[in-house]
Amino acid sequence: MVSKKYNLESQLRNLFENSQEPLCYSQIESSLNTKYNKTSVYRQLEKLLNNGVLNKLETNKGSFYELKSSSNNHLHTHCKICNDIKCIADQTIKPSEGVSGFVNEQFSLVIEGLCGKCSKQ
Ligand SMILES: [Zn+2]
Ligand SMILES: [Zn+2]
Repeated sequence: MVSKKYNLESQLRNLFENSQEPLCYSQIESSLNTKYNKTSVYRQLEKLLNNGVLNKLETNKGSFYELKSSSNNHLHTHCKICNDIKCIADQTIKPSEGVSGFVNEQFSLVIEGLCGKCSKQ
């Protein structure tokens, strides 16, 4: 029997590997094949964060997650109205460049504002 925990972890890894944009909790939850309770999903996300698999992005509408391997220190834009988040892959920065001895572990590079659609309304 395959344990439930293994299933959830592989489902999450799969989900993020196939996603072009960062995902928030409700998107993650609705993409899972099996119904898990919130605590299990958050615990698994936390584990993937600690293992360096995922990267967490904080916005004024909550957290988003994305694969760390795809997040080579790039910027994100987040729309405060429709909650749309995008990776700006060609805008890479090195936050700790020049800070000697500092080890990067987590990046949360989000520009808050209005997307093209919402800014026209
Ligand atoms: Zn918007
Ligand atoms: Zn990204």
